[in-house]
Amino acid sequence: MFDLVVIGAGPGGYVAAIRAAQLGLKVACVEKESALGGTCLRVGCIPSKALLQSSHLFHQAKHGLARHGIKVSGVELDLGSMLRRKDTVVKTLTKGVEGLLAKNKVERVNGLGRIAGPGQVQVGERTLECKHILIATGSVPSFFAGMEVDYDRVCTSTEALNFKTVPQHLIVIGGGVIGLELGSVWGWLGAKVSVVEFLDRILPGTDLEVAAAAQKIFEKQGMEFHLGQKVTSARSQGEVALVETESGLRLEGDRVLVAVGRKAYFDGLGLEEAGVKTERGKVVVDEHFRTNVAGLWAIGDCIPGAMLAHKAEDEGMAVAEFIATGYGHVNYDAIPAIVYTHPEIASVGLNEEQLKERGVPYRKGTFPFLANGRARSQNETDGMVKVLAHTETDRVLGVHILGPSAGDLIAECVVAMEFSASSEDIARVCHAHPTLSEVVKEAALAVDGRAIHM
Ligand code: FAD
Ligand code: NAD
Repeated sequence: MFDLVVIGAGPGGYVAAIRAAQLGLKVACVEKESALGGTCLRVGCIPSKALLQSSHLFHQAKHGLARHGIKVSGVELDLGSMLRRKDTVVKTLTKGVEGLLAKNKVERVNGLGRIAGPGQVQVGERTLECKHILIATGSVPSFFAGMEVDYDRVCTSTEALNFKTVPQHLIVIGGGVIGLELGSVWGWLGAKVSVVEFLDRILPGTDLEVAAAAQKIFEKQGMEFHLGQKVTSARSQGEVALVETESGLRLEGDRVLVAVGRKAYFDGLGLEEAGVKTERGKVVVDEHFRTNVAGLWAIGDCIPGAMLAHKAEDEGMAVAEFIATGYGHVNYDAIPAIVYTHPEIASVGLNEEQLKERGVPYRKGTFPFLANGRARSQNETDGMVKVLAHTETDRVLGVHILGPSAGDLIAECVVAMEFSASSEDIARVCHAHPTLSEVVKEAALAVDGRAIHM
């Protein structure tokens, strides 16, 4: 008899399993794939970041080193080796999760898990009896009628992590996170990249000023954008792939990446038979991740909220703690979001549009990387930091960063928000010189109109 059976070994599921085991529960983790780690480790965060790093290095070697006085010639792409390095990174990390489960005495069960009844999970011939079941089955790509995905010429992110040749013309449907990250990868490697986006802006949810500034940078890098275009058809036709939009735009390329969002995955899980309530394709949970069925819990991409690995992980920790101790909590107001393009885009808290919509009075401080010594030394001066703070209390309500290492710089702002810091608090903290983090300090000073270096 297990205390907890977790279905799905993505960042939500495997973290929950480990935390529950740390707290003394007897735990099993069921995963249908042979490798652990879920979307994130196998076909998401990790392989995409490995390729972003490699492809950007290639582009730098070809075009970025001369500015530093380094002459190189004969730079060549060995795509096979690049893809193999990515696969090695993935393999090392997925094996690492295997080791972590073993170290924590979590029993790993390989196969499709089906909820067979209260406290019962069926995996093949075996029935796992348990007190609690955690659904952490994650998500898969979604697409619309008219998008004829053949997982080859018209494909999803999974295939776009593994193209065996660099496309000549990659058409990306969706100017969201996946479209921009994987569009960047193949763009750095030499493809022409056209992004077709339904909205009149890229990166919905991101602060508009930041997203617009990012778009200009991506355009300078060679990406082409067709905004306000609803794709109604995408199909392959022999050697070409065709994309058509409602308003009559017609694009022809050799590859199409469909990146229009993801949907929760429940195939074979027996969710309906178990009587679990869903809404808009996701499991409904209360603030403690309880579903409507006693003993059944859910976290990660398959419940509402941002589809992010660290959100799934934090929910995994919280649900395990709640089951074991009766207390567990996630602060959804301080979950960072990062787009790993070059430069990166990172944010936490509310953006300007949301503050206006809610009628919250705020002051804004911005500071450009152009005026930062370290950014100049690195030759990475594009972008800015924006700090938004409450007009009366000065409490930080949101921080938005476009620039070098934005994904690392945001960590300080997340901590600040967790501790309900004011912009004055950030401004008075000593930031080492010369570092990129001084841009965060200057933006915080700018909230009160007293940035030093502008
Ligand atoms: P998943 O990681 O999807 O894991 C669910 C697991 O459950 C899977 O392994 C699946 O095989 C298994 N499963 C499903 N049903 C069953 C069943 N019935 N029985 C047994 N096993 C089952 N997020 C970030 O925060 N940062 C990033 O940089 C980032 N990059 C991404 C890049 C790409 C290309 C993609 C596609 C996603 C990216 N994400 C990123 C999103 C991130 O991968 C997800 O938010 C995260 O993986 C969700 O974790 P999860 O545990 O909820 O689900
Ligand atoms: P997304 O929601 O970020 O972007 C999808 C885009 O497609 C939207 O801008 C939408 O307006 C557009 N779109 C929808 N239908 C369209 C149509 N018919 N024609 C043209 N455009 C259309 O989704 P995604 O990029 O597929 O990413 C899926 C999820 O994966 C996201 O929720 C994201 O959180 C997660 N992810 C995160 C990271 C990261 O954290 N760095 C990286 C990759 C993926």
